[in-house]
Amino acid sequence: MIEKILIANRGEIALRVIRACREMGIRSVAVHSTADSDAMHVRMADEAVCIGPPPAQQSYLSIPAIISACEITGAQAIHPGYGFLSENANFVQILEDHDITFIGPTAEHIRIMGDKITAIETMKALGVPCVPGSEGAVPDLAAARRVAAEIGYPVIVKATAGGGGRGMKLALNEDEIDTAFQTARAEAKAAFGNDEVYIEKYLQRPRHIEIQIFGDGKGRAVHLGERDCSLQRRHQKVFEEAPGPEIDAETRARIGRICADAVASINYAGAGTIEFLYEDGEFYFIEMNTRLQVEHPVTEAVFGVDLVREQIRVAEGLPMSFTQDDLELNGHAIEVRINAERLPDFSPSPGRITQYHAPGGLGVRIDSAIYDGYTIPPHYDSLIGKLIVHGRDRKEALARLKRALNELIVDGVDTTIPLFRELLEEPDILAGTYNIHWLEKWLESNMG
Ligand code: ADP
Repeated sequence: MIEKILIANRGEIALRVIRACREMGIRSVAVHSTADSDAMHVRMADEAVCIGPPPAQQSYLSIPAIISACEITGAQAIHPGYGFLSENANFVQILEDHDITFIGPTAEHIRIMGDKITAIETMKALGVPCVPGSEGAVPDLAAARRVAAEIGYPVIVKATAGGGGRGMKLALNEDEIDTAFQTARAEAKAAFGNDEVYIEKYLQRPRHIEIQIFGDGKGRAVHLGERDCSLQRRHQKVFEEAPGPEIDAETRARIGRICADAVASINYAGAGTIEFLYEDGEFYFIEMNTRLQVEHPVTEAVFGVDLVREQIRVAEGLPMSFTQDDLELNGHAIEVRINAERLPDFSPSPGRITQYHAPGGLGVRIDSAIYDGYTIPPHYDSLIGKLIVHGRDRKEALARLKRALNELIVDGVDTTIPLFRELLEEPDILAGTYNIHWLEKWLESNMG
């Protein structure tokens, strides 16, 4: 049994894991950089170890520092959260060699899904529908032109090592393919040290629908429905909901079954998300994330489960605490990401929070690590909290979100809270009729 878990992360997700540990009677170890000495995760954990200076490369991404912290504190397992080392197969391999349990899938599964080309090949072979595109990597310009013409414009050139929306370039027609190919390659090389790219049909007005799956590592897996994460800025999600406004029970069961069967057949362990674009009733696989997602609370709300607890159980070798039949979708949940950013350009706004008041009441959840007087350091990403609401239906969830946003006070820094207050006045948001381009267009005409 796991008695002590080290959380190799910071911010709200570190707190999220500490909370699950507390409820399970497991001791928690926080690690932190010198910039985070006063952070909430350091205060809330049972123990804390400083692992380095502010730059993440020398602290939250330092594998030797994290393993030393494990050894000093006697933690038997590591929860990686999301970001940082959560999808680093090399890290997982090293933990295996040190007999430290990684709370997540195997290094092999992370490796396969971390490379988008092998992920697509694997999913295709498992019967998951994919976007029409090149067979594997596109080696040179001549091949790019040929493949793009075959697929039909518009196309998107994507880095196989891509993440966070980087290394993706659109080509609307044959005049644009050379530049798209070359810039995608250069960006991929600079960002990921891997310039391999592939080409996909560019879908014009899809929704981003992702399926939450969960496997026990022994050939059993379930799905927990979908999340619609179509509201994006620069390919980054800002607002997520479950269930998807356009997805009915039959569609959910069909795509959910395909995803659960696919991961069951490879003995996948723990939480994972299979991301699709969805257009005209068809699903097109784009990538799989082999970790807990930022937006997991909307799924927890509508299915009434604790995904972190489940991750820990599976890492202990226990069976999942639910079967597919136990999982019943209940009501509607919405999450908004509160970032310390200045509108309209979304530039980072670190600094001291002079006043913080969290909303409460029925169906309201706040996952955040901020507090009155806390200083947001400039070194990390700008997510400072997530507001999640749950209602009996979408209409109730929207009303609750509006109410909760009005109660929420974060003073001293700029945040994205005003954006959500405005979005909740938009007929398309209220009706749920939006696709992945909706927010960019809205921002252009309302904040441009
Ligand atoms: P990343 O790993 O960088 O997040 P993804 O492959 O998950 O990249 O894609 C991120 C977003 O980019 C998607 O949610 C969607 O908005 C857009 N996108 C990706 N592929 C396509 C495509 N073939 N057509 C249209 N939009 C796409």
